[in-house]
Amino acid sequence: MSNKRNILIVLSGPSGVGKGTVAKMLVKRNPCIKLSVSCTTRSPREGEKDGIDYFFTDRNVFKEKINQGGFLEYSEHFENFYGTPKDFVLNKLKTDDVLLEIDVNGGLNVKKNYPQAVLIMLLPPSVEELHRRLTLRHTESEEKINLRMQRINYELGKKDFYDYLVVNDDLELTVSKIEDIINSEKSRIL
Ligand code: 5GP
Repeated sequence: MSNKRNILIVLSGPSGVGKGTVAKMLVKRNPCIKLSVSCTTRSPREGEKDGIDYFFTDRNVFKEKINQGGFLEYSEHFENFYGTPKDFVLNKLKTDDVLLEIDVNGGLNVKKNYPQAVLIMLLPPSVEELHRRLTLRHTESEEKINLRMQRINYELGKKDFYDYLVVNDDLELTVSKIEDIINSEKSRIL
């Protein structure tokens, strides 16, 4: 008999730290971990599919869902709403582990509504290195980079609220460390 429970894992970390790549590799290596699909009011981008990339909804439906307590967390980015659908996640948790790749505020709100969630924050090997990478891309103005750095420092400032901190200096090693965390959390008796 297996006494392992299915767990809700939140993966957060400042922009540029490699969350997306780590999440994809985790899901690929562990078929029992399912990536959650968020709801959004923004329009689909080319190639995005409803129910796969996001559940695309209009603002009224989204607001109704907020009022019904249908989100584990939600927030507004660039004038669009984004949220983690509660029923979708809780249903998946009956059979699998579920991974949320969301920002720090989202992660803290999930913990309020679902205290058993395991919060993991990915950290850059150094903040200076992150700044260097953003600058090297040459895709953004200095002003935008400064805003991003402020946001990065804000997110890092919340790290003490997370259950685990993992420095992402080597992709394979980072994924293995997270797998160890997940395995030990799954076996933990609450
Ligand atoms: P995009 O429009 O580029 O797909 O996403 C914009 C922002 O929304 C990103 O920072 C992304 O992490 C965030 N986001 C996506 N889904 C969710 C969600 O379910 N909850 C929260 N709080 N943020 C989300």
